[in-house]
Amino acid sequence: MKGTFPIQQFAELQTPFYYYDLELLRHTLHTICTEAGRYDRFAVHYAVKANANPKVLAVIRESGLGADCVSGGEIQAALRAGFPADRIVFAGVGKADWEIKLGLDEEIFCFNVESIPELEVIDQLAAQRGKVAQVAFRINPNVGAHTHANITTGLAENKFGISMEDMDRVIDLAQSLRHVHFIGLHFHIGSQILEMGDFIALCHRINELQDKLEARGILMPHINVGGGLGIDYQDPNGHPVPDFRTYFATYDTHLRLRPGQTLHFELGRAVVGQCGSLISKVLYVKQGTNKQFAILDAGFTDLIRPALYQAHHEMENLSSEADAQVYDVVGPICESSDVFGKAVSLNAVHRGDLVALRSAGAYGEIMASGYNCRPLPVGYTSDELQVSIKNIK
Ligand SMILES: *Cc1c(COP(=O)(O)O)cnc(C)c1O
Repeated sequence: MKGTFPIQQFAELQTPFYYYDLELLRHTLHTICTEAGRYDRFAVHYAVKANANPKVLAVIRESGLGADCVSGGEIQAALRAGFPADRIVFAGVGKADWEIKLGLDEEIFCFNVESIPELEVIDQLAAQRGKVAQVAFRINPNVGAHTHANITTGLAENKFGISMEDMDRVIDLAQSLRHVHFIGLHFHIGSQILEMGDFIALCHRINELQDKLEARGILMPHINVGGGLGIDYQDPNGHPVPDFRTYFATYDTHLRLRPGQTLHFELGRAVVGQCGSLISKVLYVKQGTNKQFAILDAGFTDLIRPALYQAHHEMENLSSEADAQVYDVVGPICESSDVFGKAVSLNAVHRGDLVALRSAGAYGEIMASGYNCRPLPVGYTSDELQVSIKNIK
């Protein structure tokens, strides 16, 4: 089974480009809102770093999600897309002064603070402005995630967050500073997590930490468990929408929220991953020794995940129904790692065929680079291409 694509309109566009199926995005957002809405204290934010295309952000904004940002540029992108400042959270191990000032001036909801020196700088910059910044502490819970080593973030060896041993000290310090207001704890253990057991381990750790803090008389209104829910890269047509019901139910069952607490989520990949595809054209079919190569006009400058994380993306030849053959599918970049897949089965490929790389909506377009002086890929949406057919008619 192949995905459904407006191939006629594709023929008019310069490849490679990203294509976003907004119907699927809206359906995914509706599912998130319905499933999180079963619990009255769950608040969902979209992790902007997964995809900051303004057309995609606009649709996510309409659904009512908040925004999770990891840079000043992302805060600006979220504000431009219409996310209200008081629904923006700001994480990151290395927040620059201008980024902190931006967050203070815009009065964002919360800084997720990752170190003591950062807390002190936020306090100073807030004091200069006569403001009080709301802060949560990102705690490194030393919980592993069953995912690629480059995308685990919650182990003691990772650079992220404040260690559990330092937690009490940091909270005490925050309570002694006049321009920060401690409102909660933040966690994020990694990405592309499909085993609910990893999230359950996080819940148990948070329960322990909350018990300890409660014993010291410390209560907080917010707990933020980050994102990390994975998508089905092997079968995007069979599983276009992640299992949000089980995901939220897992937290509801295993995390003991205190009265009045709100539980925040920061989902990136699970929101946008499946709605995007990278569409590229076959430049050449080359016979190698014991194999054949399909050489695309897209490379790792357009989609770096296979080169960076050995990630798998399903591929479909949109122009052919001919019997399948096996190819190494590669890009044009002058690097041996510029390979999208080895021994990939595709309907027999010819020069000029369009090939879709599926599940590329998250960490795709946003990670594109200009290496080899290549132009950045454009992102088109199904809504725009619909309008352009109407204009032609
Ligand atoms: C990257 C990131 C997320 C989103 O991760 P996904 O795996 O895309 O859901 C959420 N929170 C923080 C702090 C992050 O850095």
